[in-house]
Amino acid sequence: MVYCKECGTENPDNAEFCQECGNELVPENEDNVMGTKSTGLIIFGYIFAVLGLISGSILSLVGLVIGFTLLRRGGPDRGHGIIITVISAFVILIWIAIAILYVYYAYLT
Ligand SMILES: [Zn+2]
Repeated sequence: MVYCKECGTENPDNAEFCQECGNELVPENEDNVMGTKSTGLIIFGYIFAVLGLISGSILSLVGLVIGFTLLRRGGPDRGHGIIITVISAFVILIWIAIAILYVYYAYLT
């Protein structure tokens, strides 16, 4: 049995919409597994993206991979995927710019 989140009516397992109020039914356990999995991934993504600022671009590369994973998975986590990808890419670009400037000035002096 699937319980409607809106009105609490019992519906058959294969029902896609509530028979009482027409609300879209999401299988409960599937929803929970996806939710917890992605939440951990989102937190790790933000941590790696921001850690890249302090300790070099390698951790941001991990953040970039996590961001892309969330993006490809789609759904409600897509927004976090975009933010994590943008932060990670930005941090990597900063470190590349620093490296180029460093080499540039090293050759000048
Ligand atoms: Zn309902």
